[in-house]
Amino acid sequence: MELKEYWSDSYHSRDFKLIRIGVVAVRFRWLVALLIIGIAGWIAVDWWVLDPAHFKLLWKVRLITGVMLTPLLPLSYLCKLDRRWMVMSLYALLGILLLFNFVSLWSFRDGVPIPVGYVAFPYFLLALLAVLPLPIRSGLRVAVVMILVVLGTDYWLDSRTLDNGELIDRIWLLLCFSLAMIWVQAGQLRMLLDLYRESTRDPLTRLMNRRLFLRQLEAVRHDSSAGQPYTLILLDLDKFKRINDDHGHLMGDEVLVSVATTIMDIFGQDAIVSRYGGEEFMVLLPETRLEQAARQAETLRLAVESQPVENPLDESEVMVTLSAGVVEGHHDSVPTDLLRQADEALYGAKSQGRNCVVAHR
Ligand code: GH3
Ligand code: MG
Ligand code: MG
Repeated sequence: MELKEYWSDSYHSRDFKLIRIGVVAVRFRWLVALLIIGIAGWIAVDWWVLDPAHFKLLWKVRLITGVMLTPLLPLSYLCKLDRRWMVMSLYALLGILLLFNFVSLWSFRDGVPIPVGYVAFPYFLLALLAVLPLPIRSGLRVAVVMILVVLGTDYWLDSRTLDNGELIDRIWLLLCFSLAMIWVQAGQLRMLLDLYRESTRDPLTRLMNRRLFLRQLEAVRHDSSAGQPYTLILLDLDKFKRINDDHGHLMGDEVLVSVATTIMDIFGQDAIVSRYGGEEFMVLLPETRLEQAARQAETLRLAVESQPVENPLDESEVMVTLSAGVVEGHHDSVPTDLLRQADEALYGAKSQGRNCVVAHR
């Protein structure tokens, strides 16, 4: 995992962004639910701890806070769809909780000692926010907002704290909790990214697997405009079983890795390349017409045909060829129909004697 992926989600793939926001939205919903129960349920603790005058005000403040938090529960379902909803909901949560912090501390302005539950509330909040897998930049923003508002609240309600060591003490504690929060958040993000990579990549060639490829196909179809088609190329190695039988599976694996590298070299960064099945690869070319894709497939066919793969065990060389089926897709195409047509075109190439490219028309 690269450092910049810890820093900001602008370095994450579109697919991973959606997955991460889905996880954040679910955790956010649980967080809000627990906070509603916790803040309202704390009324019982206050009943024991507080004097009647403070209790009379604070139980209402707690109930109102719980009610204000409730709309965030249905809102968290919208967060799954759009990052902006997620950011808005998170700051709405912070706003409501910091307002609760302000009002409750304000109620103790008469000099009565503040119960520890109220003093510790901002630190408790920072600890809870660590459950969200946020990149460091987002975590820092949350921490800065928290620290400024909490210190502002303290200063406004009790400006004397500026004169003594208490202020330094609070800043220090807020910084420590913020750093712990960001550390844990980044750790969660790392775990999520690692799991995502393992579940969407083929371990042998490191190309994306069929699961991720089908999601990418749907995304490209969704983004394509009426006059801008995309193409699919289904590639299958010819007589691959014989390579395994004659030279062993280790050599078969070597051939698969070598062909995957050639495909990446020929099609470049803009192509979406996957290991679709055992010795089948799928290439998705956004904004590409059938003829252009068929030409590129032919270039690949020639490159594979002319590059023998070296056996790492005995330095002998193995020749390999591939067949390809090409199909053009449009905004209104059904993905399963496209996959079937690509398969038909590939079948056509196999029946024409292999080592050739057939376009579906
Ligand atoms: P055709 O030209 O008709 O495609 O013939 P083929 O032999 O390539 O096709 P077939 O479907 O009969 O065999 C595919 C073989 O690919 C069988 C399987 O053992 C092999 N294979 C699948 N995955 C792997 C892998 O990860 N490593 C190795 N070494 N072989 C694999
Ligand atoms: Mg096959
Ligand atoms: Mg084959």
